[in-house]
Amino acid sequence: MLKITKFGGSSLADASRFLRVRDIVLSDISRRVVVVSAAGRRHAGDHKITDLLYLCHAHLSYGVSCWDLWRRICDRYIDIRNGCSLQFPIEQELERIYAGLTAQTGCDEIASRGEYLSALLMAELLGYTFVDSADWLQFDYAGRVLFEESCASLQSLADGRKIVTPGFYGVLPNGAIHTFSRGGSDVTGSLAAAALHADLYENWTDVTGILAADPRIVTNPATIAQLSYEELQALSHVGTQVLHESAVEPVRQRQIPLQIRNTWQPELPGTRIGLPRADCAGEPSIVGFAGRRNLAMLRVASSGLTQLSGEVLQTLSRAGLNVFYSACGLEQLTVLIDASGSTERLHECTERLRARYANTQIKLRENLSILAALLRGTELLPKLVAAVQASGAPVHYLADARPCLLMIVNDSQYETALRAAYSVCQTIN
Ligand code: ASP
Repeated sequence: MLKITKFGGSSLADASRFLRVRDIVLSDISRRVVVVSAAGRRHAGDHKITDLLYLCHAHLSYGVSCWDLWRRICDRYIDIRNGCSLQFPIEQELERIYAGLTAQTGCDEIASRGEYLSALLMAELLGYTFVDSADWLQFDYAGRVLFEESCASLQSLADGRKIVTPGFYGVLPNGAIHTFSRGGSDVTGSLAAAALHADLYENWTDVTGILAADPRIVTNPATIAQLSYEELQALSHVGTQVLHESAVEPVRQRQIPLQIRNTWQPELPGTRIGLPRADCAGEPSIVGFAGRRNLAMLRVASSGLTQLSGEVLQTLSRAGLNVFYSACGLEQLTVLIDASGSTERLHECTERLRARYANTQIKLRENLSILAALLRGTELLPKLVAAVQASGAPVHYLADARPCLLMIVNDSQYETALRAAYSVCQTIN
């Protein structure tokens, strides 16, 4: 049995959390491969190491010294080393990194050093071997992971040993460090699991798993026990943000289950992802909800939509507008557009379309939200929509984006709609 365990920044923010991670890892002999993030915030108002590193890069690129910021980073890692009673000469490592920093040092290279330092310390704490991700995780120049090459490199480097490897970064073909987008250590963990044909990818974080609804709106929502890969991807597409969006694909390709667990409550099972598709077809149920705010809905009514719909979508994309969903019926095209920060462009674009298709009805409705319900079976759909309508939140449009049902409601009524929908979920499940 092999488990890949990845710990996020909140689980590694200080020495006491490093020790907690050690206890979790060493309590199960199958946890032989550990992926770590940079140290995160210790408390509200604190800074993530990665944020400080990006700031260092910004200072250097403007020719301003980053010494004060760098000292804060050094203090954090020296405190972790001392608080865990480790011997690692981290000062030498920190001096070496600082000595190499210039105005030309790449942003990714600087940003990656938090994960690198975390992994060096964690390796000593666990008595595992440090394997630098620069030695196995390879990208092409377009920033795409070279999957087969990376898997082969990690297999030969790990070679059955217990290892710690830093998350978030790898190398380009010329050896320069390249990072994923923020939160990318989740992807490193997933790639390591795929490379080593692990039995399980455990992603340890600061929440109990994927929640059935936003806890800022619904009091004490349930934790979803099991999801298929497709269901998690559908929820993430709408707005669920527990994992990096690219973290599912590598484990999904190799059908490795993924479990989200809470470092603060290791006794809880969390959410397990990788439920076989067939198991999602059992009893009809409402699994959970996700939402996306600040949307606009463009509706174009015309006969002969086939050509026109392509043109409309092209015009929107040329204007840099982010189309979240589109559906073309016989006489109506409906497009949901992410409107945050693009209201002016959206108005200009709508005017351009109206001028171009003068005999076509083009309606734009703004200040909307998507309330997405993840359903198993469609039997409960009418009940759900009726409950939302009865709460006083009109459903302007219903889209079948299986396994999710998308209900388009007024942004101002989103919270009411979610609470009403969640209460249906509670009575049924
Ligand atoms: N440390 C990086 C970040 O803050 C990557 C990660 O934590 O996954 O985004």
